[in-house]
This record gives sequence, structure tokens and C-alpha cells, in this order.
Amino acid sequence: MTMQQLLWQGVQELNKAGVPDPQLDARYLLLEVFHLNLASFLALKARELGKDEETEGKCREFMRLIEARAGRTPLQHLTGTQEFMGFEFLVNEHVLIPRQDTETLVELVLEEQNDREKRVLDMCTGSGCIAISLALMGRYRHVAALDVSAEALKVAAGNRDRLLGGYEGGFELFESNMFSALETDRTFDVIVSNPPYIPSRVIEGLAPEVRDHEPRIALDGSEDGLTFYRILAQEARNHLAEGGSIYMEIGYDQSEAVEGLLPDRGIQGCEDISGSGRTGPGGEGQAVRPGVRGRT
Ligand code: GLN
Repeated sequence: MTMQQLLWQGVQELNKAGVPDPQLDARYLLLEVFHLNLASFLALKARELGKDEETEGKCREFMRLIEARAGRTPLQHLTGTQEFMGFEFLVNEHVLIPRQDTETLVELVLEEQNDREKRVLDMCTGSGCIAISLALMGRYRHVAALDVSAEALKVAAGNRDRLLGGYEGGFELFESNMFSALETDRTFDVIVSNPPYIPSRVIEGLAPEVRDHEPRIALDGSEDGLTFYRILAQEARNHLAEGGSIYMEIGYDQSEAVEGLLPDRGIQGCEDISGSGRTGPGGEGQAVRPGVRGRT
């Protein structure tokens, strides 16, 4: 059997199970198991696979991963990583898998906040993807990243250790249920957040990869999906320095509701920036608008 044939077996299994993008996913898993990049795979794919124990083990491992993917385990839980802003982040079942939509949020912050002296807070950091990307690319003086989940913080710490080696600013990671563990008078120039924002009842209808495998705590924004925006809107006033800005990712249909929350709480200049049209954790067809932006 050649590698191409092995790949094809995997593609067929994924196809049968109705997995979207079966070819792409099977190829990612094959490259992962055989430790190949695309170029070396293309060079080797027509060659007969060896019959040695190591190769046979890899073939079995590939089919085991294919089975798991056919059972709708997300690809990223099988490879253990997801690329975000060009960096490779570790992920597992305790964190939201970083989404492309969220890159738009990070890009917006980087574009608007180009003063390195800024102090940044990332609320609900999950894997740490936003905080770490902002630290690496914005080179801000200080970045604090908070999350309620101790398990998520372990993943974020792993990503910090892997990626933040050359960063000269301060980087803090700590457990906090929203703002509860922050000193009440501690302020930041920029607050950024991609909080859980899916209304509870919508979660059941999401893709099985999201519904059954991603942490509910990272998705569920309670009954109306807005719980964490309410807290952010309320607390931003206490924790934003004068002239500071808050950036939040929101669901595709939440701009009005979230805009309504912000001015009530004394943050002006809320602006809605149209979405990228890509899909967020809300699943297919639900573009995320990453840009309700409030300024004090
Ligand atoms: N901030 C993380 C991300 O954007 C986690 C978000 C979350 O868990 N809701 O991926």
C-alpha cells in the first residue's frame, strides 16, 4: 500500500461519517502521524509503505485518528494545535479552539493601539491566543490574561512558555471569574475580550464538534447570550483608564443588543464593525462580528 492509498482510506471513512472537508482533515492527520510536511508527502505518496513495525504502527495510529475524527472529535483535539495569527497554539478540550474571526479582533486592536506603553487586559483568555498574540505583535508594556477555568489557564501557560520567550513586557496569567480577582482600582488602557456569547438554547443546534467537544463554559453566554457583555460593560468603567478602549467579539446578531448595553454604562462611541463572513463557534453560516468597540 502507498501513502496515497492509506490517505484515501481515511478520506472514505470521513466521507461516510459526513465530516466536512474529509480530504483536508485526512491529509492533516496523515502529515501529523508521519511527521511530514506537504512537500515531503507529495514526494513520497506514491512509494510503497514499508512493512516494518514502525510504519505499521503509524498506519494504525492514522486509522485510529480517522475513527476519532469520524466520531466528530475536532481535528485540533487530535493534532493538539491550532494556528492563530501565524503562531501555533496548543489546545485541548478545556479551551475554545481559536477561530479565524478572532484574528480580526486582534488585528483591529493592533491597528488602533500602536503605543507600546499600553497596558492590556484580555478577559476570558482561554488558550491565551488573544493575549499572547497581542503581546508578541503589539509588544505592549503589560498584558494581563484572566480566565475562570484553572484547566484553561494551564493551556494558556503552556502557550506562554512556548511562544513568549522573547517578550520583554510583563505578562500575567491568573484565575478570575471575570473581574472578581482584580484589585478594584486596577486599570488598563485596553480591555479585549472574546467571552462566551452563545445563547444556551442555541448550543444544542451547533455542529457536533463544537457542541460535544468544546468546553460549554467557553461557549455559553446564558439564556440571552449577553451575560458576559453585561459584566464587561459594567466593569469596564472601573477598570479602563481614561481614554481607554474596550474591544469585544460578539455574535453575528448581537451588535444592537451589545451596543445597547455599553452607552447605558457610560461608555461612548460604540461602533459596529462589520464581520468577515467567516464562521465562528456559532457554527455554519453564523459570521461573527468582531467589532463592537467602545471607548471611554
Ligand atoms: N479568548 C479565547 C479565544 O478567543 C477564548 C474565548 C472563550 O473561551 N470564549 O479563543
